Amino acid sequence: MFSGTNLPRVGSYNINVVLSSIQAADGISRVEIAQQTGLTAQTVSVIVRRLIEQGIVQESGSLPSAGGKPRTTLRINPAAAYAVGIHFDPIGLSMVVVDMMGQELADSRQEISPGLDPEALIAQAAGSALSLLADLGIPRERVLGVGAACPGPIDQSQGLVISPPRRDRWTEVPIKRLLEQHIGFDVIIDNDANAAAIGERWSGHGRATSDFAFLYLGTGVGGGIFLSNHIYRGVSLNAGEFGHIVVEPNGAPCYCGNRGCVEAMCSPAAIVKEVHAQLALGQASKLALQYQEDPGSVDHTAICLAAVEFDFVARRVIDRVAEYLADCAVIIANALDVELLIIGGRAIAHVAEIYRDKMTEFLQTRPLARKTHTMRVAISDMANDGAALGAASLVLHTAYAPNAAHLTRV
Ligand SMILES: [Zn+2]
Repeated sequence: MFSGTNLPRVGSYNINVVLSSIQAADGISRVEIAQQTGLTAQTVSVIVRRLIEQGIVQESGSLPSAGGKPRTTLRINPAAAYAVGIHFDPIGLSMVVVDMMGQELADSRQEISPGLDPEALIAQAAGSALSLLADLGIPRERVLGVGAACPGPIDQSQGLVISPPRRDRWTEVPIKRLLEQHIGFDVIIDNDANAAAIGERWSGHGRATSDFAFLYLGTGVGGGIFLSNHIYRGVSLNAGEFGHIVVEPNGAPCYCGNRGCVEAMCSPAAIVKEVHAQLALGQASKLALQYQEDPGSVDHTAICLAAVEFDFVARRVIDRVAEYLADCAVIIANALDVELLIIGGRAIAHVAEIYRDKMTEFLQTRPLARKTHTMRVAISDMANDGAALGAASLVLHTAYAPNAAHLTRV
């Protein structure tokens, strides 16, 4: 939990310290906030009164108290403000609208026609987001902003998507500026893995822990790191690139220049390529006939479903991928010594338990510190697209964390 300071000049910082503790708790009293943050009871009381007057916090119920009068509990008012999250995935456009507690109110997903000009796609995204807000009846002044999750690498300070893999026309696209022009709200961009990690911190498994890593398996493989309640981005905002940890020194070449990276061995494209190669050799499989008739239909989803049903070829490939991911998890445990590793992203659908169980097995037997503590593995609960939800959470996270300027406008 964050600590406050009782110096008079840091009011907005203290407002956020108080807000963070109210958001993280499921009902908390003024006395508990003071105990958690180190702020005086009087400071907490003044801040809470102001937040209640602004409609950001509401009193709800009461807690029994030892000896004294019952303590009034405080919660965030979910309807105080809203945020939009948009995920520009290489193969689709996902978006969500969330309330102030990060709860999803509406979502939409659209396929992207290949070769669509970036600005046309951004305009399409803006139009869809505005329709979602209109359908929900949310007035513009209640919208804190828009979070855009994009495949990395990105330049967050300039709002640029640099050169994402599998997106030839997306070199140095000023996505922040273009989206702001089309949608008329402030836009924050982040890479999709960091956005999904922030979503976990906000409303997923990361809520209850200050130190965790997030392994994101989407079209590519990425990651996010939370240390002491803060996302750790690194000096060039590119920390957590777990997809480029080498797990097979002589493995397939990766676009980053290495061989045998997690992404080169475990991404949906790598899995499909390996299964197709084995089917082309005539290996016995439930997928063999389907492959002969229409190779394109043996896609990542078909392979994952076959693996769950113990198809020989599909299961062997997925089991090998699970081992690579477990090797990666051991490296993460040794490097970061965090409490929890969350796995998420669209590519874990159907096979998440296979991956989790292999990671758990390796984590119990291989990291140096395993006898002191074993890093747990959890499967993200974020349905479909954690990155879109995460992008919306990014807006809330930014509004709560560095300054209260956004909120005090509400
Ligand atoms: Zn690589």
